[in-house]
Amino acid sequence: MSAKYIFVTGGVVSSLGKGLAAASIGCLLESRGIKVNLMKFDPYLNVDPGTMSPFQHGEVFVTDDGAETDLDLGHYERYTHAKLSRDNNWTTGRIYEQIIAKERRGDYLGKTVQVIPHVTNEIKSAMKKVAQEVDVAIVEVGGTVGDIESLPFMEAVRQMRQELGRENTLFVHVTLVPFIAAAQELKTKPTQHSVKELLSIGIQPDILLCRTDRFLSKEIKSKIALFCNVEEEAVITAKDVASIYEVPLVFSHEKVDQLVLKYLHLEARDRDLKQWEELVHRVYNPKADVHIAIVGKYVEYEDSYKSLKEALVHGALAHNLKLRLSWVEAEGLEAGQEACHEQLRDYDGILVPGGFGKRGIEGMLQAIRYSRENKTPYFGICLGMQTACIEFARNVCGLEDANSSEFDPATPHRVIYKLRELRGVEELGGTMRLGAWTCKIEPDTLAYRIYGKAEISERHRHRYEFNREYEEQLTAAGLRISGSSPDGTYVEMVELPDHPHFIGCQFHPEFKSKPLEPHPLFRTFIGAAYEHAQKRAEEKQTAEVEMFHRPVKVASR
Ligand code: GLN
Repeated sequence: MSAKYIFVTGGVVSSLGKGLAAASIGCLLESRGIKVNLMKFDPYLNVDPGTMSPFQHGEVFVTDDGAETDLDLGHYERYTHAKLSRDNNWTTGRIYEQIIAKERRGDYLGKTVQVIPHVTNEIKSAMKKVAQEVDVAIVEVGGTVGDIESLPFMEAVRQMRQELGRENTLFVHVTLVPFIAAAQELKTKPTQHSVKELLSIGIQPDILLCRTDRFLSKEIKSKIALFCNVEEEAVITAKDVASIYEVPLVFSHEKVDQLVLKYLHLEARDRDLKQWEELVHRVYNPKADVHIAIVGKYVEYEDSYKSLKEALVHGALAHNLKLRLSWVEAEGLEAGQEACHEQLRDYDGILVPGGFGKRGIEGMLQAIRYSRENKTPYFGICLGMQTACIEFARNVCGLEDANSSEFDPATPHRVIYKLRELRGVEELGGTMRLGAWTCKIEPDTLAYRIYGKAEISERHRHRYEFNREYEEQLTAAGLRISGSSPDGTYVEMVELPDHPHFIGCQFHPEFKSKPLEPHPLFRTFIGAAYEHAQKRAEEKQTAEVEMFHRPVKVASR
């Protein structure tokens, strides 16, 4: 049997959670034993988001095969078991790159190369590629209906229905039904307009996922159904929820999966969402809080660390804790340890995440020094591992002005330097050490205790590496290299044995954490942070009791 397709489009405004909707539909179908794959089309001209600023685009999600992709792929992996690769995310730029390469090779045999059929054919074959070996392929089209940029994708989607028929294709449109306070009413007009826009390009949606802050009444649903030409049961209340992990449950209450099965003529077993229900129960019933500080430079824009934030949530959920996350602007810590004491004192754990460029580095170094000296659990990811090595070189080994050549090319001590195989490579697109690499873990280390095995595979995205010339000096002073690439070239993990929990990794474990399978590095970091919090609470209590029992000195006359 060949695969069926679900196309997810968005209307009215962006940021309605199309990616989460697609992921949640995938999750529901999997819970019924249906095999899914998911893909996203991004209508911009960049070949991939790898060279874009996180302010523009949010996080760059890295797949095992080293593709730099849209952050929605992170949702797909967290909600389903789909194995994603560079085939699962296409931009207009990459589609055109393919076509132009073909044209230059002469593959079009003298024909005029056009948007229809050449661009649309390329888009359709990308869809068909991910649909091999699964029952259902869920295809998300980025952007909002009406955008000029997304037209070729919409046209390809329209053609897919033409080609494969109603039983094999389904159009899901995510739209907004806002509550207007002045009128005290939910408004359906934006949805009507958005569907009209879709109809004008030949797409009649089958299911409307209506984002709203309250339940849609039967009247509202039938009004939308009537105007938008969909069945009433296909007007879904996609109500705002406090936790994104509740979305599959919200959709299941609204019977989205039953509708999908009905429209696509699919047979499936009953859904089993027990694990998700249990997870959501934990989300809303934590035993305590754990307070983590992320010290970075893009702190004002949470989307730039999407997977990281989720991985921390997963780590907290593993201990039945609620994550309280604070983003601390690294530049604000540059003043020194006093500023750190003031700003970092109340956190149970400190994390320096991945990043590029010089801004904020000195503040990160201060934060790392603070966690090292005050025994606050520390977790450094990629840049956070590199800065941990620099801090150790400077403040423990006395290597003044030690740095990464990324931030100070003239540093006397290049503790971190450019990846040897990248020397001389000036182009920025796709030229980092990317994707999954094996790492060997040393026995008798924190890393080994965390993973419980000697060989792991994690995803990378970096241009600089630890300089082994400094290995002897740093390890003699107490830094432990606990993970390396199998041939010993790259340092992948470092730690401090005389600290309760101080660990850094050159890779990005956040990309592989899932709510139902929290990553061990995040689970143990949160565990250590919670222990630290409890220890501090006990110390505080003891101090208070001591204070209470201290004999009161009476001033002598
Ligand atoms: N800028 C550093 C490098 O390129 C760290 C990269 C990262 O944190 N992802 O090596």
